[in-house]
Amino acid sequence: MTQRVTVAFGDGIGPEIMTAALSVLDAAGADLRYDVTDIGERVYNAGHTSGIAPESWDSLRRNGVFLKAPITTAQGGGFKSLNVTIRKTVGLYANVRPCTAYAPFVRTRHPGMDVVIVRENEEDLYAGIEHRQTTEVYQCLKIVSRPGCERIVRYAFEYARANGRRKVSCFTKDNIMKLTDGLFHQVFNEIGAEYPDIEKDHWIIDIGAARLADTPEMFDVIVTPNLYGDIISDVAAQIAGSVGMGGSANIGGTIAMFEAVHGSAPDLAGKGVANPSGLLLSAVMMLNHLGRGEVAERIHNAWLATLEDGIHTPDVYDPAISRERVGTDGFAQAVIARLGRRPERLTPVSYAGAAPLRLEPAEAARRPAASKTTVGVDLFVEFRDGSPDTLAARLQSVEDNRLKLKMVTNRGVKVWPDGAPETLLTDHWRCRFMNGGGPVTVQEIAALQLRAAEAGIAFIKTEHLCDFDGQPGYSLGQGQ
Ligand code: NAD
Repeated sequence: MTQRVTVAFGDGIGPEIMTAALSVLDAAGADLRYDVTDIGERVYNAGHTSGIAPESWDSLRRNGVFLKAPITTAQGGGFKSLNVTIRKTVGLYANVRPCTAYAPFVRTRHPGMDVVIVRENEEDLYAGIEHRQTTEVYQCLKIVSRPGCERIVRYAFEYARANGRRKVSCFTKDNIMKLTDGLFHQVFNEIGAEYPDIEKDHWIIDIGAARLADTPEMFDVIVTPNLYGDIISDVAAQIAGSVGMGGSANIGGTIAMFEAVHGSAPDLAGKGVANPSGLLLSAVMMLNHLGRGEVAERIHNAWLATLEDGIHTPDVYDPAISRERVGTDGFAQAVIARLGRRPERLTPVSYAGAAPLRLEPAEAARRPAASKTTVGVDLFVEFRDGSPDTLAARLQSVEDNRLKLKMVTNRGVKVWPDGAPETLLTDHWRCRFMNGGGPVTVQEIAALQLRAAEAGIAFIKTEHLCDFDGQPGYSLGQGQ
């Protein structure tokens, strides 16, 4: 059956590489119909601040599959990132990036590299919730949800299983962020236990990233929260060989978007020399997603054979390795000429029975609500008129017989009681009031806020301290 897909030609080199990629798809018999939609510069200039026109959403929702060329991001205030808008609007929660070396045909320091990074795409510091709270201090909220972790971790294991991968590694920083990254790691352990056939390990992101850059052969599939995934997937694409050759999939519950890892390369636009491989490999992922494994395999193997024959675009051309230097269209024609061929030295791909990359939307298996007890409050205060002891004395003046000042921290470092003289003091203080571990009511917290306001204590936010099923749902603070 002919499948319709939404296609955007984008900016810069976008139109050239998209034309080349579609010519290969058509020649391979992909049997797709393209609903072309406009995104990027022209749409920004027409007054749509996120680079996409309202009618494009209809096309995306109708087809469920989007092959997207890179765009040039509009500069300046008032514009929103198109990629972030698309991801968030249609819930593309999994960003999948295979990073493969093609030695000896493309120069790389890591000939054995074959890693797939599965990056959580919606949460973490990318929730976009930022505030300036005081003259000196700004915050960005790191939001991590259990359903979000469960979805991405399960996706990574399902991906590994469907693609014959043997191991899934989880990268977090849960030695520091015990609640947020701790949850991601815990969910990885829980869900991983359902996949006894797949090896698993966990790495603290810093050493994990170092090992990935140094010895990528150690890794197979990596699942990681948004920010870490953003960074390590670029590092991985770079050390694999060329940014021009990386493809990616952004998977949601009902919609999936496929695009090259690279941008619109304005320096190459209109020259006909850009490498269309990143977009072509994204299209291969799309075909697999559509259940067209046979066509995906034909294209991918013809592409490998083209690389192996030394037919290279300038970004990977090397006189010592390459045989012929070709432009964007010449490369596409070379792939078309090799349809039906398999590589002889590079490992051929096999997509027989490739399953869609999408997980069926999980049943709304909501956990029962935890038993929750409020035990105190962190009052965040702007204060610049004295020492921690001065502030503490003012705070103690608004205590009642239940909510007592327990500690004051500045940038997370305890400064009262028993602060250290070396600590840098800003104008932003977290002041913890607790009822000796016993429960407090929201009315008592509101009354504390009112007394603080009347005493001229400039609080800028409060966070309630709650125990969940008897476990503290808040960090204890340094020095406790
Ligand atoms: P870029 O990826 O466009 O280019 C980086 C370098 O890689 C350049 O030297 C470029 O010539 C080269 N390069 C990129 N793709 C290539 C290809 N297919 N073949 C050969 N060489 C290639 O990154 P940039 O210059 O930082 O960004 C340019 C624009 O693209 C910016 O506006 C940026 O915001 C945007 N961008 C868009 C996306 C997207 O739409 N998904 C992603 C990244 C960047």
